[in-house]
Amino acid sequence: MTSQAQTALNLLAEEVVGCERCPRLLAWREQVSRERRAAFAQQEYWGRPLPGFGDPLARLLLLGLAPAAHGANRTGRMFTGDRSGDFLFAALSRAGLANQPISRDRVDGLRLKDVWVTAVVRCAPPANKPTPLERDTCLPWSVRELGLLTEVRVVVCLGAFAWDGALRLRAALAGSDAPLPRPRPRFGHGVEVGDGAYRLIGCFHPSQQNTFTGKLTEAMIDEVLRRAQEIAANSA
Ligand code: SF4
Repeated sequence: MTSQAQTALNLLAEEVVGCERCPRLLAWREQVSRERRAAFAQQEYWGRPLPGFGDPLARLLLLGLAPAAHGANRTGRMFTGDRSGDFLFAALSRAGLANQPISRDRVDGLRLKDVWVTAVVRCAPPANKPTPLERDTCLPWSVRELGLLTEVRVVVCLGAFAWDGALRLRAALAGSDAPLPRPRPRFGHGVEVGDGAYRLIGCFHPSQQNTFTGKLTEAMIDEVLRRAQEIAANSA
């Protein structure tokens, strides 16, 4: 089961990495990779779309917005190589969902257990702002990815954009005619919505803007992960 799921996910990852559906993002990710930030001038940037990664049998899915230009777009692994990732993987480690609190590059030895990390949009967008068309163009990758992650029961949505993406993802997985829920459930830290196949939990995004100002503390993200694990444990 594990190897079959991993093989299918590996094949999907190869497809994702070759995706060129969004011309604006294709140009931006390549421009950033050419110009580079001074601190990383000697490094070769990934500069391509990013597949998700983690445990193929995960019950928890962590959903972010999109790769950061000089973080995941540089290292080639979601949330790896920037302050957001430092905060997130430290939390995963405290929760027993990661074997180490540090995430520097694709060969740093990080292993996730019972969690899969991915994003609504898989290419770094200018100003961290994908367009609605780019969001919708990328969503089918997440539909396919989640379709292969058969054990997922809880989606932890990191920020309002991920929350919106997760609602769209649930609707897409429910069937092509399934509408988005109305009224649309509002994003909030700790807010939960949904039953059936997936439960969604909101969590403020672990960006520096939130973690440096105390809007998102270690205790707050720890509680969200504890709750997600509790739901997963109680789900059939
Ligand atoms: S954002 Fe998604 S759909 Fe658009 S080019 Fe990147 S991987 Fe492809």
